[in-house]
Amino acid sequence: MKKRKGADPTKENMATKKDYYDLLGVPKGASADELKKAYRNMAKKYHPDTNPNNKESEEKFKEINEAYEVLSDPQKKAAYDQFGHAGVGAGAPPGGGFRGGFRPQDVGGADFDDMFGDVFNNFFGGQGGGRARSQAQEGDDLRHDVTLSFEEAAFGVSKEVKIRKLTTCETCHGSGAKAGSGKVTCNTCHGAGQVRTSQGFFTVARTCPRCGGKGEIPGTPCTTCRGQGRVEREKTISVKIPAGVDEGSRLRVRGEGEAGLNGGPSGDLYVFLHVEPHEFFNREGGDLHCEIPISFVKASLGTELEVPTLEGAVNMKIPAGTQSGKVFRLKGKGLKNPGDSSVGDLLVTILVETPTDLNAKQKKMLEEFEAASTEANTPAIGKFMFKMKQLFNRKK
Ligand SMILES: [Zn+2]
Ligand SMILES: [Zn+2]
Repeated sequence: MKKRKGADPTKENMATKKDYYDLLGVPKGASADELKKAYRNMAKKYHPDTNPNNKESEEKFKEINEAYEVLSDPQKKAAYDQFGHAGVGAGAPPGGGFRGGFRPQDVGGADFDDMFGDVFNNFFGGQGGGRARSQAQEGDDLRHDVTLSFEEAAFGVSKEVKIRKLTTCETCHGSGAKAGSGKVTCNTCHGAGQVRTSQGFFTVARTCPRCGGKGEIPGTPCTTCRGQGRVEREKTISVKIPAGVDEGSRLRVRGEGEAGLNGGPSGDLYVFLHVEPHEFFNREGGDLHCEIPISFVKASLGTELEVPTLEGAVNMKIPAGTQSGKVFRLKGKGLKNPGDSSVGDLLVTILVETPTDLNAKQKKMLEEFEAASTEANTPAIGKFMFKMKQLFNRKK
């Protein structure tokens, strides 16, 4: 069996992660002071205010921040020094369903402003960090893994997916307030909508976790959601999986992630597909491959074979003199391409099995057969012997 295609996307992330020391441009043994200095310089250089609308430096800026976050923490640094990225669990989301901050690469990165905007307003002497922000907050995306049988992947299937997620509270319709109760000033941020904490050498302003940036909270919280506006519920979602999906395929179900806050849109649900191996078939895109062993006698004389396909067995003629490794193509017996209407082929590789465990009678018959054989029966052997003679200039 060949190795299956479609690698775990989380592994690719790990492999492409850059060395934290390299990112900051310092040697491995750098002191805390050196790290801090290097970080300051790099952060200034790649800061989004200095490089507006520059995706590359934005990415770099994120990497630098991540590197410094690890290297400035003695415990994380020690783990990183010993185990590398695996030691600090970087870029490796767990395999099962998870929530919070998950953003597959093909839908754009995390919201840049959310992560760093406020931090650097303060760091670079920006006034107050009072950036106007939308109170509406998009719900998190969710991931759910589904394993399909080979046939389900080939023909498509409808799957019921059960997920637990935060949904908009039906009692208060997401407001978090008990019906008829007014609003009061949030006592965590005192109405500012932001809270500040010291992190490393600079101050971080974050959206207030209590009021979600609104500056006010319900006078009496809704009892169903305890003022959160969302409640965790189990939901069954029907996911239509098209024919021809492969290991590692992902489907996005729009709006089936977690509910947003304050009227923000819901996140999406990402269904990661896994496909069980088949007893006979290996896949390569839309083509199917299978190997069929036959006896050397049948390969010599020609025969008719029963060949498995996804739609049942079909008969295939094997001509006399078929060599081991010969591939026969059955057109249109492969898989549908989910992207268009093309269909792959089934490629059957014939393997001639050399007989083993011969008894005395069989041995005698084969010896007689060999004695009666001529070069015309085995032209490849004749050709090889001829080349050998030439190569070593031997005379018979
Ligand atoms: Zn509620
Ligand atoms: Zn608040």
